[in-house]
Amino acid sequence: MPHKPIRIAVLHFAHETVTFLANDTTLEDFTYLGSPARGEALLAHDPKSYMGGFVKVAREYEGVELVGIESPLWPRTGTGSGWITTEAYETFLGRMIAGLKAEGPFDGVYLSLHGAMGVRGVPRPEADIARRVRGVVGRKAFIVGTFDPHGNEDEQFLAEADMAFTVKYFPHYDSHLQGQRAARMLVRAIRGDYKPATVTMKVPIITPTVLQWTGASPWMDMVQRALVWEAREPDVYVNVFFGFPFADVPDVGLTFQVMTNGDAALARKVADDMASWAWRRREALLNTAKVYPIPEGVRLAKQATARGEVPVVLADHSDRSGYATWILKEVIEQDLSDVLIATIADARAIDTLKVKGVKADGSFWVSVGFGRGNVVVISRYLTQILYPEELRGPGFTVDQFKVIAIKSRVHFRRGFDDSGFAKTILLVEPADPYLGTVRLDGLPYKNVDLKKFYPYGDVSFP
Ligand SMILES: [Zn+2]
Repeated sequence: MPHKPIRIAVLHFAHETVTFLANDTTLEDFTYLGSPARGEALLAHDPKSYMGGFVKVAREYEGVELVGIESPLWPRTGTGSGWITTEAYETFLGRMIAGLKAEGPFDGVYLSLHGAMGVRGVPRPEADIARRVRGVVGRKAFIVGTFDPHGNEDEQFLAEADMAFTVKYFPHYDSHLQGQRAARMLVRAIRGDYKPATVTMKVPIITPTVLQWTGASPWMDMVQRALVWEAREPDVYVNVFFGFPFADVPDVGLTFQVMTNGDAALARKVADDMASWAWRRREALLNTAKVYPIPEGVRLAKQATARGEVPVVLADHSDRSGYATWILKEVIEQDLSDVLIATIADARAIDTLKVKGVKADGSFWVSVGFGRGNVVVISRYLTQILYPEELRGPGFTVDQFKVIAIKSRVHFRRGFDDSGFAKTILLVEPADPYLGTVRLDGLPYKNVDLKKFYPYGDVSFP
């Protein structure tokens, strides 16, 4: 007997909000050519990531119709903006809910999320989105979300939605794969072949993102443990939210979600295993990358250059604003040569150049030469460089530099480390705690009590 046709609504609302930044994320930031997007434009907007994986697999099934509901894409600010305004959130979510009502009914909903969205007045935005979507589609429909491992989530999301699939690696290599899984499991659930029984478990450990690289132990081991559970038990899925500590929201910290096919006891057992493993390894989870003060990092870069261990990557992991100039200052003071600094965000400089009639395509980078063979690139927004190939300007190529200073924590390892490109990698941050610091107790939290988390308080678990 042929399967009944299935209608799935597809929605997207994602941001990684650094709530300590002064510039709110506004309606205007989400509104640009191509955003919001609906229909085929929404379904096709990110073919190599979650959305692409979801659409690819959903369309492998006969009789599955995908309906792209008007949704905002990522804001123009990328990750370089603070609290999403209530106006922006309510406007877009309101339109998404109206679209769902207008185009329904639906058998299932795919929510393409991130998990670290920070909205003024909405403590748990992803759970709130799921709750309001549920209000339209009803209890009989299935709701699945995809997430970034930096999501801050607690049990509320899976209390409203049925399933979640979270990227396992940092750098985030498997977003397309998690999108594929979300599609397959959503179709299975709608057809009655998978009955999600889930457990969400929080572990009171909070970690700065720069320490969460899954290319080395113990973070690699934690991912491996989740993969082993998925391999040994059919229909078990394990999500690990490393958490995003630069959002002042109540559900920060390490979180596990486990999904099984109707087996609540198994879900509990796997969650207990993951959580107790993480707690046993808590000290190691906090002692991974070495982070140098910027003057020392620049000095070490100079020494590595003298030894010929180039190119050197100097990564200021802490600059979540994009406009920090500490490395530039040290490069000048210590008189380094052949350095590329990419980028320093300076909206005013870029806007002035545009007003004065300077024309450019796309991202509008301005490169300025200084000192002995140095170049600094100025951009409109915070820019995280992932691959050396991105560093191409009028008048320079990446191979002419011995030191490349970028703003990234772990994602740059795709193109600079995993590829074998860099011979020396130095992570740096300024002396005083800055937005993305490893010293979380230097941040002005209002909604988080750090004393309730290892390593900042005398915490016991379970
Ligand atoms: Zn992430």
